[in-house]
Amino acid sequence: SKILVTGASGFIAVHVVHEALKAGFQVVGTVRSSDKGDYLTELFSKQYPGKFTYKIAEDLEAPGAFDDAVRGVQGVLHTASPFHFNAEGKALQALVNPAVNGTKSVLKSIKDHGTEVQRVVITSSFAAILDPARTPPVNYTEADWNESSPAESEKLGDKQASQPAYRASKTLAERAAWNFVEKEKPQWDLSTINPPLVLGPILHQVNAPEKLNTSVSSVWGALHGSKSEDDLPGALGCVVDVRDVAIAHVKALQVPEAGGERFAVTIGQFTQQGVVDVIHDASWIPEELKKQVPIGKKGNYNVTQNNLSGAKAEKVLGVKYHSFKSTIEDAL
Ligand code: NDP
Repeated sequence: SKILVTGASGFIAVHVVHEALKAGFQVVGTVRSSDKGDYLTELFSKQYPGKFTYKIAEDLEAPGAFDDAVRGVQGVLHTASPFHFNAEGKALQALVNPAVNGTKSVLKSIKDHGTEVQRVVITSSFAAILDPARTPPVNYTEADWNESSPAESEKLGDKQASQPAYRASKTLAERAAWNFVEKEKPQWDLSTINPPLVLGPILHQVNAPEKLNTSVSSVWGALHGSKSEDDLPGALGCVVDVRDVAIAHVKALQVPEAGGERFAVTIGQFTQQGVVDVIHDASWIPEELKKQVPIGKKGNYNVTQNNLSGAKAEKVLGVKYHSFKSTIEDAL
């Protein structure tokens, strides 16, 4: 059958497209430019000839932007959403509105034109689960919601800083999706995938290191002098491999019991020390790079931080997580 992946050019989305093609789906992706669409067509053309096509959806918020793309597909994976921390002074416009209105717009297009759609999977985030008002360490699960960021965001408007605005954007977008389902009672059901920090190898088009997506750029930074001894051990937060996030999206389309459920996908908490340990242990990394990387105290991962359980995705979706070492090594 045929599915739609929105924002197909993104770090996570290209892996999602790849896993969907592997699973035998025909995939339509939306992208913002033909350059990005052509890159993807070329990327998948040899292994999956004719199975990937793209449509342009330039503006997430434009009414009817996805009308054309949802026609004739049986599943929709909505990943497109701004993820960066460069929105100071225009946080609503740059982060919150595209996330929330983009989600509403996709769902409206499905309602109007996606008559064959049976399931919608939305890329949400740990940001919609973790409540910054709660003091760490908290053991989070899918039952938790970020209760404080939406109100904070509403109060601050454009004046909010990028990080809290991003958290609000993901919380409000996911809430909007569940509210849509409750109100409209559509023929399809909804699942959300809620990853924390996503790392691992990249397949998407990146022309220069400074153009790397937000999460992977932190690994690039760690290898190129962005960390000091003072940053170690330091919390990294919870982590997951992009390949596992991609499989979770595809399984969430296929597994009947996934309908109506949120799925945290993660191997749990890690530390900055963990990243530098992987770098120093990798014999193939040149010494001139390793010289810029602090050593800290190998194996000292003792940090008080929040945790997130990825057990439900293992059980219901059958996700088998990559190790932290392979996630970081393959990103490097
Ligand atoms: P990327 O920045 O690589 O991908 C974001 C995607 O959304 C791209 O396809 C991008 O298009 C598109 N997009 C962003 N802003 C707009 C906009 N205003 N209008 C139209 N399209 C837009 O990031 P990720 O792959 O990491 O993120 C994908 C999803 O995963 C997001 O929903 C993000 O919130 C979520 N997520 C990511 C995590 C991570 O650690 N990476 C953790 C948890 C959740 P273009 O390529 O043209 O820029």
